[in-house]
Amino acid sequence: AKLQNVLSSLSQAARQLDALPSGRPAPAANYVKLNTNENPFPLPTIVWQSAIAALERQYLYPEDDNISLREAAANTYGVAIDHVIAGNGSSELLGLIYRAFLAPGDSVAMLSPGFSFNRKLAMLQGAQLLEIGCNEAQSLPIEQLLVGPAKDAKFILLANPNNPTGTFIPIADIERLLAQSDRLVVLDEAYVDFAPDNGLRLLGRYPNLLLLRTLSKSYAAAGIRVGFGFGHPQLIGRLRNIQNVFNMNVIGHAVGISILAHRAVYEENHMHVRHERQRVATALSQLGFSLTPSHANFLLARVPAGHDGRWWQAALERQRVLVAFLPDNGLENCIRVSIGTKAQMDAFLGAVSDISDSLK
Ligand code: PMP
Repeated sequence: AKLQNVLSSLSQAARQLDALPSGRPAPAANYVKLNTNENPFPLPTIVWQSAIAALERQYLYPEDDNISLREAAANTYGVAIDHVIAGNGSSELLGLIYRAFLAPGDSVAMLSPGFSFNRKLAMLQGAQLLEIGCNEAQSLPIEQLLVGPAKDAKFILLANPNNPTGTFIPIADIERLLAQSDRLVVLDEAYVDFAPDNGLRLLGRYPNLLLLRTLSKSYAAAGIRVGFGFGHPQLIGRLRNIQNVFNMNVIGHAVGISILAHRAVYEENHMHVRHERQRVATALSQLGFSLTPSHANFLLARVPAGHDGRWWQAALERQRVLVAFLPDNGLENCIRVSIGTKAQMDAFLGAVSDISDSLK
């Protein structure tokens, strides 16, 4: 009864969260893990060494305000340091954006299907997430974002490339939206290093742009938790104001700085992902899947008729291969598979092929 009293005294937002699907436990180590868009390569030795060296400072609080890391990001991306915020992955920064810019009852617009974490963030804030259907579009439905229900949204969230579709919107479309609207646009570029272009050049020109980057995907550091936000100092300042003190740790600082200093080392990694993405897409379409063209480190594949995405996910899991099944927004017949090493992708394709044979 005591626990029931505690639980029922939680805010309505906190109680609503109970209705969302909960996270799955981490799988045993001997799975081919292709379900959360990690990059499978170990940190380069030189970056690794910076993490070890940082442990010597474990008894001290990390540097206040993430200054050295922000400075490194400012130099790398060509902006001034007061245009940069650093966080534990871009998810921390997304959370700050929701808290800073949305009051209960407000709304936020996102293209659908989109990154589902935004639902949780909106719910926590007591805000409404307007999911604007775009049918896996390769261009931006600007009209739909500026009129209709989305007209009053406090900000527009664009992930480019988008998750879970992998689609890429031309930067010129995003520029048109920024120019035509006074609304805040949050451009989440988590996967942009696998894409043909990026929105960095828009930063100086549009004060209504907040741009997010992460070291989780293209820099293979998902477990270290480093992300950046870029934008006008007054927007960035609001986010920094509400951020926890000492939000990052000494290893995140050291690894972040080291990765930025050795960015060139990762070019081969990005080439591998692009190449492997093409190879797997071709193989999957030969096995009867239909693919959305992807510019990220994953593929969204519509499964052959007869079984749905959930069935394929379970069949693959029995073969010790983990893929994502994201049934919302018309994706019941899809699976999303991350691009791993060649050996991992061979294991995935082998499992798909075995399952397909067993259906004949
Ligand atoms: N944005 C998008 C579109 C994502 O898919 C993810 C990771 N799934 C993130 C942001 C957050 O990544 P991180 O917190 O690791 O930077």
